[in-house]
Amino acid sequence: NQGVGSWAARRARMAPDRVALIHEGRSHTYGEVAARAGTLAHRLAGLGVRRGDRVAHLGPNHPAFLDALFATGLLGAVFVPLNTRLAAPELDYIIDDCGARLLLWSPACAATVAGLRTGARAVPLDDVPGVAGEPADVDVTDAETCMIMYTSGTTGRPKGAMLTHANIAWNCVNLLIDVDLSGDEVTLVSAPMFHVAALNQTVLPTFLKGGACVLTGGFDAEATLDLIAAHRVTCLFGVPAMFAAIARSPRFGTADLSSVRSLLCGGAPVPEPLIATYQRRGLTFLQGYGMTECSPGALFLRAPESVRKAGSAGTPVFFGDVRVSTPGGGDAAPGETGEILVRGPTVMAGYWGLPDETRAALGDDGWLRTGDLAVTDTEGFVYVRDRVKDMIISGGENIYPAEVEAALLAHPAVAECAVVGVPDARWGEVGRAFVVSASAVDAAELLAFLDGRIARYKIPKSVVFTEALPRTASGKVVKARLRAPVPDRRT
Ligand code: AMP
Ligand code: MG
Repeated sequence: NQGVGSWAARRARMAPDRVALIHEGRSHTYGEVAARAGTLAHRLAGLGVRRGDRVAHLGPNHPAFLDALFATGLLGAVFVPLNTRLAAPELDYIIDDCGARLLLWSPACAATVAGLRTGARAVPLDDVPGVAGEPADVDVTDAETCMIMYTSGTTGRPKGAMLTHANIAWNCVNLLIDVDLSGDEVTLVSAPMFHVAALNQTVLPTFLKGGACVLTGGFDAEATLDLIAAHRVTCLFGVPAMFAAIARSPRFGTADLSSVRSLLCGGAPVPEPLIATYQRRGLTFLQGYGMTECSPGALFLRAPESVRKAGSAGTPVFFGDVRVSTPGGGDAAPGETGEILVRGPTVMAGYWGLPDETRAALGDDGWLRTGDLAVTDTEGFVYVRDRVKDMIISGGENIYPAEVEAALLAHPAVAECAVVGVPDARWGEVGRAFVVSASAVDAAELLAFLDGRIARYKIPKSVVFTEALPRTASGKVVKARLRAPVPDRRT
């Protein structure tokens, strides 16, 4: 087994007593993680999990998350990490869409699991029934799917990006070429591992080098400062909203950050004032641009350029090609806006069960259409400008308006609606809903209606009632006009 599932055992073979994970003050060595993953693999096999089966996982950052990932990989089964913030109907959709044989759940998510309707067998991670049996290790090949990560799209329903073992290994190689992680790394992981960046861009590369990851079940700025000092954290991964929250702490100027060498930031552009704030503390950001569909790294802004090229997402990763394409398909000239296309060994195998969407995303040529608009400068640095796709990035979570609009339209009083992102000092962007009502209804009622149907972070922060939505001649809502400030009509 050359797959990701074997990585814990391979590390344990080299240095079983090195610390792999630190969680709530307890250290877990590579030997312990490998042994637990092996035991869990037997038990999952006893529950009927076979090569190619999907195993969904619902839980926060925790050592058991990685046990589940490695155990699933040892069996040649496919790991499907679920976002713990989703509402029950959203989770049911994903679990059923991937046809999960099992749902492994953390005790922290018991209340959520109680509200699920899926027919998949749900097994608590702290009590997986034991079986005696043959050692479970399947000879997995690189081209097999390691994980399916769901990511929302313009169609309103999330799609499962199939990431192979090779995709993930190459992504780790790319990261390690650009970031000098070492065997002495102490990486703080408080961004959720059910997202591709924390898991593939941070935890797994640290694992490959034999460093230690400090896992937290959630993000808190004050706790982050304490953990950095307590564990002499060397590497920190987060989205801009997390780094901004840390910088707002009254202790930011005086806290002991002397151990920190790398700040990895991705998912959204880092605002230039934030770059300057950390600069004053002697810290520079390594910024990445990517997406679930490319495992995720595609562009990287390296430390030497992080100030000179502030605002850029950088240049392509080592094993990967990026081009900015005009609508006609040619290369955009410097300064000319085009769509970012990505090709290389980290680009997904396709969307689970969706051949048409896969063809639309990968074309005949294997260039992934990202739906992001960018310009390059004369030195080839890419600046992400806007999104073709109509997505809102709020505190590191992506919100696809189509999902929110579909949920709103389910309310009988909503005749038409459109959701757009508006700037927000804390979250980067937040959603605002424009609603044409069919009968009397107020904002509070609509927002209460959404609670439980879609994740809380997707619920708009404001509702504007309007007589009609601005539309083009062909009937398409002109969202750009809705993004303009409307304080007087805001409710
Ligand atoms: P996801 O599929 O959830 O991983 O989200 C990927 C999307 O996040 C990309 O297609 C971009 O729209 C956005 N994104 C990621 N990194 C950056 C970045 N550095 N700058 C701007 N947008 C980004
Ligand atoms: Mg996406």
